[in-house]
Amino acid sequence: MPLFTPGRRWQPAYYPFKKVSKGQRALAFVERVSKGPLFGCRMCGNCLLQETAFICPMECPKGARNGPCGGSTEAHCYVDETRPCIWYEIYERAFKMGRQEMLLEVLPPLDWDKVGGETWGDVMRQVQVVGTKKVFTALVKRDKEARAATWDAVFRPVRQPDWWQGDAEYHAPAYDEPVSELERRLKAGEFVVTAEVAPPLSAATGAMCRNVELVRPYVAAVNFTDCPSATPRMSSIACSTMALQHDAEPVLQIAARDRTRTGLQAEVLGASALGIRNILCLSGDHARMGPPPQGRMDVIDIDAVQMLWILRRMRDEGKYLDGRNLKFRPQFFLGAAGAPFASRPEFQAIREHKKVNAGAQFFQTNLVYDPDGLEIWLNELAKRNILDKVYILIGITPLKTLKMAHYMNDDVPGVFIPQPILKRLEAAGDGVAEEGVQIALELIEAIKGKQGVNGIHLMAVGWEEIVPRIVTEAGLARPQLAQPELCLN
Ligand code: SF4
Repeated sequence: MPLFTPGRRWQPAYYPFKKVSKGQRALAFVERVSKGPLFGCRMCGNCLLQETAFICPMECPKGARNGPCGGSTEAHCYVDETRPCIWYEIYERAFKMGRQEMLLEVLPPLDWDKVGGETWGDVMRQVQVVGTKKVFTALVKRDKEARAATWDAVFRPVRQPDWWQGDAEYHAPAYDEPVSELERRLKAGEFVVTAEVAPPLSAATGAMCRNVELVRPYVAAVNFTDCPSATPRMSSIACSTMALQHDAEPVLQIAARDRTRTGLQAEVLGASALGIRNILCLSGDHARMGPPPQGRMDVIDIDAVQMLWILRRMRDEGKYLDGRNLKFRPQFFLGAAGAPFASRPEFQAIREHKKVNAGAQFFQTNLVYDPDGLEIWLNELAKRNILDKVYILIGITPLKTLKMAHYMNDDVPGVFIPQPILKRLEAAGDGVAEEGVQIALELIEAIKGKQGVNGIHLMAVGWEEIVPRIVTEAGLARPQLAQPELCLN
């Protein structure tokens, strides 16, 4: 009990809000002093070291338990440049140990009731369930497979509680008829275009609605971001609802950053009831990217892979995360972010594979300026046999100024602009915006025929009026459309 706050039990930060027995406290202490120095254990109480090449992933500032975010690089974590991306270390070691396929298992979010406590008690209980003698006999056997099976029988129930039951398998959507126009067009084999329209920075909606009207005839769906750069804007769900009122099909982007598991499930049920069908699941820019004063950054409830898993099960199995049944199931066409240039292509491919297994039906990628690099990423996805399980829309942004190009290349994680493109923009002088449009058109042409590419995602944020021109000049406008006015302002 603290000296100056009588009546309060002393409780270090992030310890469970409950009193545990002396035995459990002693076990937790031993676990902390042994696993801390050995594995960098953070005492999350939901240990998954078996699946992460024996490196604790809990030092990731985004709390990602299922792989790197789109900002990961070989050099450092994009949130805290003084440390490496822990997921890069995990992937590297997993490849060296031949354990990379284990990274595909969809791991659960934390059971916060266990945070700060020990995991060894759970392991010991599971050893008793399997049979102490059987476990020890199997562990000294030479038979590698029997050893692995016994090991898994002990540790799998510990890391995969009944309410989660994650695996490394693909789960095809449990429905046949497309639930959205975007899905219908993709299923029909159309090369689709989606475009981003920026949500307003105030309560005024006029400009956004005009932009929605402007791009609507040229695209299959309109994306609304969810507070990019962790900076508040109008909510994606409000913008998506307004898009429906303007006869445009929305893609609701949801960032895990701002959601608890309760909030997420409540929001997607509401979205489905409002008629929003396309949902893009993202981890979101870290809170540290936002303007000061910065909010709490250490508690992140779910990651993007877990979000996909939760939403897919709500739709296909009619279950809430806690196991309760949903009487009327929501309808979703689920998307995720693809990041061809984030980490090494073979690392990234595991991450994308995991997202597809968890429930991603389409990818919208980060910006692509290097068709050859894109090809390498696509080849890695092809090796994993996932190109026929997911639709891929490639992110294209016309570069309007040289400053923007340098900013994207130097400061936006996962974006790479080759030198020849930067040189072209430099040489263009006052005609840089026009050169940017030409580059975008050339990129679309270069990626159009690539294996596994099903469309483009135009992110001309703040320059939405260029969308009709790019779509038309790229030959992607639907036939009934008139030629648009050319606008480069
Ligand atoms: S780069 Fe992303 S995944 Fe890697 S440690 Fe940082 S926040 Fe986590």
